[in-house]
Amino acid sequence: MMWKLLIVLQVCCLCLFSALFAQRPYWQQRADYHMQVELDVNTHRFSGSQEIVYQNNSPDTITKAYYHLYFNAFQPGSMMDVRSRTIADPDQRVRDRIAHLSPDEIGYLKALELKQDKKDCIFRHEGTILEVELPKPLLPGKQCVLSMKFEGQVPLQIRRSGRDNREGIAYSMAQWYPKLCEYDDKGWHPNPYVGREFYGVWGDFDVKITLDASYTVAATGYLQNPDKIGHGYESAGTSVKAPKGDRLTWHFVAPKVHDFVWAADPDFVHKTAQVPNGPLLHFFYEEKDETKAWEELPAYAVKAFEFINQHFGRYPYQSYSIIQGGDGGMEYPMATLITGHRRLRSLVGVTVHEVLHSWYQMVLATNESLYPWMDEGFTSYASAITMQELFPPKNPVLNPLAGSYGSYFSVVKAGLEEPMSTHSDHYHTNRAYGMAAYSKGAITLAQLGYIISDSIRDRGLLRYYNTWKFRHPTPDDFLRIMEKESGMVLDWYLEHWMNTTNTIDYGIRKVWEKDGKAAVALERIGSMPMPVDLMVTYKDGSRELHHIPLRIMRGAKPREYQDAAYLVRDDWPWTHPFYELQLSRPVADIQQLEIDPSTRMADVDRENNLLQLEEGMNFYLNAAGGH
Ligand SMILES: [Zn+2]
Repeated sequence: MMWKLLIVLQVCCLCLFSALFAQRPYWQQRADYHMQVELDVNTHRFSGSQEIVYQNNSPDTITKAYYHLYFNAFQPGSMMDVRSRTIADPDQRVRDRIAHLSPDEIGYLKALELKQDKKDCIFRHEGTILEVELPKPLLPGKQCVLSMKFEGQVPLQIRRSGRDNREGIAYSMAQWYPKLCEYDDKGWHPNPYVGREFYGVWGDFDVKITLDASYTVAATGYLQNPDKIGHGYESAGTSVKAPKGDRLTWHFVAPKVHDFVWAADPDFVHKTAQVPNGPLLHFFYEEKDETKAWEELPAYAVKAFEFINQHFGRYPYQSYSIIQGGDGGMEYPMATLITGHRRLRSLVGVTVHEVLHSWYQMVLATNESLYPWMDEGFTSYASAITMQELFPPKNPVLNPLAGSYGSYFSVVKAGLEEPMSTHSDHYHTNRAYGMAAYSKGAITLAQLGYIISDSIRDRGLLRYYNTWKFRHPTPDDFLRIMEKESGMVLDWYLEHWMNTTNTIDYGIRKVWEKDGKAAVALERIGSMPMPVDLMVTYKDGSRELHHIPLRIMRGAKPREYQDAAYLVRDDWPWTHPFYELQLSRPVADIQQLEIDPSTRMADVDRENNLLQLEEGMNFYLNAAGGH
C-alpha cells in the first residue's frame, strides 16, 4: 500500500507542478512615487526630491536600475538631436532646432544623490538614461525605497514638453522627472529618448509642485488642496490672481497610473463639465480669439466620453483634464496637452484622439516603443468611429477608416513600408513609422472585423479592455482574446500583418459555365492569405455572400450582411494560388461579382476585385488571360 500511495503522491506533485508552470504567469513591477518639486519661473530651473517604493514582483533578483532623464535629449549633440538631423524626413517640430539651443534654452535633468534604503547607490548619467548599481540586490517579492535628489532646467519647447510653446503657454511639463524604467519579462527597457513613444511602471503618484502663486497648474490626478489654492479652482470659470512673488504648493495624487504630467500658465482659465455617470472634465486654456472653439469643446467632450465608455469600456478615473500646451496633441494619464489654436472640428478631433489614449496606452499600457500600433493604431481606429458619431456624415460612409487604408496603400506603393514589428525608434523614415503605427495599426482592427465579423471584434475589444486594464498587454495577449472571443485560430494574421510587409491581393480570375451553372475561379495574387468574401449580385436583384474561410483559421465568421444570403464555402488552403467555386445559377443570371464589397480587407489592388458581366456574355476571362 505504501508504494502505491507514494506513486499517487508523486503523480499529484507532478500535476501540481505542471499546472503551475504550464502557463507563464503574468507579473508586473510596481513603483509608488512621492515627489516634491520647486520651480523658479525666472530661471526655468527646478529642484526636487523623489521617493519611490519599488516592489519587485518579478521572479528575478534585481541588481541594477535605470531611470529616464528625458530633458537631457534637448541638448546639442544628444541622440535625439543627431537622429533628427540625419533621418531622411525629420519631424518639422524638431529638425535642427536642438543643435541651436543656447545654454539657458537647453533642458537637463541630473540626479544629485540616490540611495537605496538609505545606502548610497553608484550611478552614471548616460544621455537620457541614468544607470544605477543597487548596493543591495532586490530579491523576488521584495521591495526597497529609492530616494533621489535631482535638479533640472526646463528646455525651450522643442518636442512635447518645455517652456514657452508657440501659443505662449508657459510650462508644458511632460517627461520632466527622473522616471524609473520598466522591467518586465523581456528585461529592462532603458530606451534612449530620440523623440517618440513611452513605457512606464504602474504605481500611485503623490506630487507637490511649488511655484510662483500667479500660475495656475493643471496636472494628472486629483488636486488635494483646492482650499489653499484659491484661484477659483473649485468654482471653476473664475481665475483669482495671487500677487506676484508669493509661492504656492499644488498637491496632486493619482492612483494607478504610470506617468505624471503637469502644465502651468499665469493666464489659464479653468472650466469644468460633468460626464453623466463619468468623470469630471477639466479644461485649461488661455482665452483669446484663437481659442474661441474651446467654448464649444466641453459639450463634445462629454458626448465623446459617453460614447467611448459604452463602446470601448468604462473610463476608470474620476477626472480628466484637457490642457492647452505641448506641440500638437499628446496623451498622459488622466490628462492631455493639446495645442489650442484650432477650429472646432480639429479641436474636437485632437481631443477625441488623446482622450482615447486613456484606453489605448494609459489603461492598456502596452510598451509603445515595441508596439506603437497597439496604442496609436487602436486609438486612430476608435477615433474614426467616435468622430463619425460626433459629426455624422451627410452621406453614409462605406468605410470610416478609408483614410488609414489610403495612407497604407500609398506607403506600400512608394516601397517605403517596414514591418509593423519594428521598434518605433528604429524605422528608417518618420513616414514609415507614422504609417505603420497609426494607419496600419488602425487597419489591424478594421480588417479584423472583416476576418471575424465586426460584432465579434467589438465584443473582443471590450473583453480585451476588461481583461488587460492596468497591465501591459502584448500583441499575443490581444490576439488570444480575439481567438477566445471568435473561437478561431488567428496567429497567422499577426505573423503576416505585423512581422512582414506581405501584402494582400485577391482577384476574380475567370467565370465560365459548367454543367449549366456558373463557375468562378479566384486567385490569390498577394503573399498574405486572407479569408475571402465574394458577393454575387444577380440580375433579379438578389445577392449571395459566399464566404471562403482560410483553412488555417479553423472556423468561419457569422453572417454579416442581412440583405444577402450567406453561404460558407469550402475553406481555402493558403498554399493554393487558385480556388474554384460553383454557383447554383447560370452565368447569364449574374449581374456582378465582387470580392469584399465592405473594403475592409486591405487589398492593394482592387481593380481585379470587381467583375460586371455584360448582357449576353456567357464566359469571361480577365485581362491577364486564362489559365
Ligand atoms: Zn496618438
